[in-house]
Amino acid sequence: MATRTATVWNDILAHVRLNHPELVRGWFADLALGGLTGGIVEILAVNRAQIDYLERHCRAALTTAAQAATGRLVSIAFNERPAPADSPLSLDPPPQNGGVRLNPEYTFEHFVTGPCNRLAHAAALAISEEPGRVYNPYFVYGSVGLGKTHLLQAVCHTVQQRKPRLSLHYISCETFINDFIEAVEIGALHQFRYRYRHADLLVIDDVQFLAERERSQEEFFHTFNTLYQSQRQIILSADCSPSEIPSLEERLVSRFNSGLVALLDRPCLETRMAIVRKKAKLRCIEVPENVTRLIAGRIDANIRELEGALLKLDAMSQAKGGPIDIDLAREALLPDETRAVKIPAILEAVARRFDVKVSDLQGKRRSKAVTFPRHVSMYLARKLTHQSLEEIGGYFGGRDHSTVLHASRTIGDQVEADRVVRELVEELASEVRTASGY
Ligand code: ADP
Ligand code: MG
Repeated sequence: MATRTATVWNDILAHVRLNHPELVRGWFADLALGGLTGGIVEILAVNRAQIDYLERHCRAALTTAAQAATGRLVSIAFNERPAPADSPLSLDPPPQNGGVRLNPEYTFEHFVTGPCNRLAHAAALAISEEPGRVYNPYFVYGSVGLGKTHLLQAVCHTVQQRKPRLSLHYISCETFINDFIEAVEIGALHQFRYRYRHADLLVIDDVQFLAERERSQEEFFHTFNTLYQSQRQIILSADCSPSEIPSLEERLVSRFNSGLVALLDRPCLETRMAIVRKKAKLRCIEVPENVTRLIAGRIDANIRELEGALLKLDAMSQAKGGPIDIDLAREALLPDETRAVKIPAILEAVARRFDVKVSDLQGKRRSKAVTFPRHVSMYLARKLTHQSLEEIGGYFGGRDHSTVLHASRTIGDQVEADRVVRELVEELASEVRTASGY
């Protein structure tokens, strides 16, 4: 891991030196790679000033470099490390308290608020400022992909930053259960209890996994009481409210309900659009406003999927070497099996529209009455299908790729310059899409 980290880091640096020499500073030698997990490349700087510089000037260049070095669609996070270590190979930072690394992106700064999550967010923020004082316990629930883990980790980030002396445990409920089972098996219950019952802040994600786990519930009940009585903060999340967790002991239900219970609801369109913008900015992806609206309009139940669509779009635009635009977005949002618009569907729609025969579009006649519709067909085939220029040419009587390219460029220019052509082409495109089942 350490060697791979060092290699990747060298590649990233080399890429930046080559492509953006103007950004490189002497102290870049002090930077190091923290980790390469969860699609995030963590870059460790010595101090805040370095982070500020990197954040302001180098995010885009480093993101591109990291993607080139890893061959994956990664994003970048900048973090501080205490002091330059003697060897760049030893720089994987130790895991924080509790053994789980936090996702550096899951901060309050990156959490978009809206009517769906305002209460949950405000409470989390208040707790992060004064753990153990305000809402205790704090129970956040909502269905999958709506930001429970993000919000819980945001509290942890803030507490780590503001109150580094507090002992903080962030774990998934499964970890709690597995630790418990293991402690029972190897006779280490004492250590287990010490670990969990001495936390200043215990954050347990996905407590619905306590369902049907009688012994773990029993143990958790005692952990809970010990912490609660000494005014330590407890934060829990689940995919449903406490009383909806199947076969959760009544005494736990009432403990969970005794503090603040807040719902993370499905976000409205405005919030979803703000999230797309935020995520795009974070990953240095340029997304036009109409594309933001399209993505946010189509995906409304799960923010993780919203993010997935954005990344897919970015990957597609890189593969095609073109910008992210509305056509690409439409394509990216389609389920794979329905994605392909078939060229015959285009030919039929165009022929119908111009009152010519499909065979005219495919034939050799050069009268204006057929060349314009033919070129429009080629343009649409380029825009709406995955076929190569050669393949498209094949549908038009075996024309070669340069003919197809020239024709679709000509129409492309007219689309830009002439509203009538633009509207015509858009209407045809939407007709073809409808005919192809989406
Ligand atoms: P859950 O734990 O509820 O299943 P997560 O916290 O893992 O959901 O969130 C899924 C993804 O959606 C994450 O990438 C997270 O950053 C993002 N996300 C969720 N809610 C928000 C929000 N309000 N603002 C920005 N990103 C969000
Ligand atoms: Mg989660």
